[in-house]
Amino acid sequence: MGYLTMKSIHLTYKRFVIYTSSFATLIGLSAIVGWIVKFNILKSLLPGYMPMKFNTAICIIFLGTALLLKPKNNHSRRHVIKALSLLVVAFATLTLLQDVFNFNFGTDELFVPETPAENISGRINPITALFLIITGLAIFFNCTKKNRCKHTLQYLLHLVTIICGIISIGYLFNVPHFFNFTFITTMPLSTALALIALSAATTILNPGFGVVKLFTGKMIGNDMARKLTIKMFLGILLLGYLHNLDHRYNWVSPQLGSVLLTVSFMAITLIFIWESCTAINKLDHKKNIARENFRLGVESSPYALILSDANGKIIHANIQTEKLYGYTRQELAGQSLQIIIPKKLHDSYNERRQSFYVSNKVVTLGIEEDIFAVRKDGTEFPIELILTPVKTEEGSVVMASVSDISLRKQQEKIIRDQVIELQVKNQELEHVNYIASHDLQEPLRTVSNYITLLEEDYPDQIKGEIKQHLYTMQAATNRMSLLIRSFLDYGKLGRNRKLGPTNCNDIVNDVVTDLNNLIKCSKATITVATELPVLYAYETELRLLFQNLINNAIKFRKKDATPHITIGCKELNGFFEFYVSDNGIGINCKDKDVIFHIFKRVKTEEEYEGHGIGLANCKKIADIHGGKIWVEPGAESGSTFKFTILNFKA
Ligand code: ADP
Repeated sequence: MGYLTMKSIHLTYKRFVIYTSSFATLIGLSAIVGWIVKFNILKSLLPGYMPMKFNTAICIIFLGTALLLKPKNNHSRRHVIKALSLLVVAFATLTLLQDVFNFNFGTDELFVPETPAENISGRINPITALFLIITGLAIFFNCTKKNRCKHTLQYLLHLVTIICGIISIGYLFNVPHFFNFTFITTMPLSTALALIALSAATTILNPGFGVVKLFTGKMIGNDMARKLTIKMFLGILLLGYLHNLDHRYNWVSPQLGSVLLTVSFMAITLIFIWESCTAINKLDHKKNIARENFRLGVESSPYALILSDANGKIIHANIQTEKLYGYTRQELAGQSLQIIIPKKLHDSYNERRQSFYVSNKVVTLGIEEDIFAVRKDGTEFPIELILTPVKTEEGSVVMASVSDISLRKQQEKIIRDQVIELQVKNQELEHVNYIASHDLQEPLRTVSNYITLLEEDYPDQIKGEIKQHLYTMQAATNRMSLLIRSFLDYGKLGRNRKLGPTNCNDIVNDVVTDLNNLIKCSKATITVATELPVLYAYETELRLLFQNLINNAIKFRKKDATPHITIGCKELNGFFEFYVSDNGIGINCKDKDVIFHIFKRVKTEEEYEGHGIGLANCKKIADIHGGKIWVEPGAESGSTFKFTILNFKA
């Protein structure tokens, strides 16, 4: 549609409606004030002209107000607009009926008494009444959905504008025939001007109907009409007016007057033609630049772009098409698209082509299913294809944008194979890990049993240094057994994970309860600084993560200080970022990465117990939640461990 929609009229022509209807309302108000204070100029606008009737002024104010309410057209306003316009229609119809049936309902002197001295009756003249009815009905039906009425009323409104325009010109040129309809009555200048404003504002409410569409359309012609009409009208009016004055005051001879009028008319026309030409040429230039840019864009596109008509005949192809298919453009021009489609796919191509023309929407093929094209040498290759309906001067055509995805397909296959290989290797590794850990426990258990047997069987011999050695051996086997178990647990971590809504407040409370003994002994305080979220997570694993961090925060406390631990969380770029900060011994900057490696410890076993597996577990848990874990120095002392969990719902 080349015309502005009702929505955009509110934006673009809202001001026009407001200005013109305010103008009409002001004229009406001025007449009413004129009648009240008995000041003629206010009634007639200019001294010596006919005054506007009181009733006409009321009707004009009603219609002007209805139009002023129109731009913000909500439900309650619509009722007021309808009521105001219907009141005017009813009142004007009553007046007309009085004229037709020569009757007096007393409405004429309803507000002001008749003034026989000036030979002025209060009755609205029949032409004005008719025009008020047309405008009132047009405003009323604009609030309804009856398009047929709107069409007819739009043309009637044009008639109102034209006749009132002629009347106003009559006044300007002082030609009574134009405003004095002796067969009916005379229309005052103020009424004519107000009716021009009201009818023009009302026609704008239906931008796609009648002559208005000439001014509201989006095409270049409409743009020209908008720019030129007012200027031309004013120019011609000025010429006519000057000619009229010349005629009245005999400035120059009639012949010279005619010549001057003709010449100035020609000059003014030339100026307007010049202006239109320049504007059209500018646009044409822009169009040529746009066309050339489009051509360059098509030629430099990394895709093969092929334009084909409704019958599937190739109209144009870019240089990339030549490279991709091995045909020259001359060879392709006029050929059916089937030339670049493998024979076995011709039937399905024809079917798709039909359905594409029916739907007339952009279609992308080759993403979920494999589609193929064929080169001049007969080799087939996978493609991704986007079909776009394009409108050109020659009619509707289709632009096919083709990309060769052979490389992508190869890479996808490599990745797929590697993923399968990795999965198999991973399973093998897990199996080996499990078996190895299990089998390693067995000899350890044997060594441990024999140490116990030795101690039990030879109590007299095993003493002193030997006893001490055996004790060290026992401790080493126990530690080895623990390490193997931890290693086994690390391998199992997240294997049977279950994603579900997890309340982190509950998790922290549970962990605090579990660590109750340690907390009591160390007199640790744990503060949850912010409300912790309920998020989608692997609950068991998340609990282990919190447990490790809180446990470490208490374990690695300073000897002379009670541990204070603070826990909090914030949402950040699709992640939940948690922190667990303590006032403990802190971590050297150089160790901040290494502590997350399995079996890596920074403090020796003698100082703090442990196996160096806790943080490795934490890292693995953060990983399976799509996040990461790191450590920062604490605000004053100690350290702050931070980890992120992907917000699966974001
Ligand atoms: P473990 O606690 O068994 O030593 P972890 O993997 O939990 O093993 O921790 C690895 C190392 O990181 C620890 O040995 C310790 O040096 C350091 N560490 C962990 N948490 C803290 C903490 N809150 N404060 C200071 N150092 C810490």
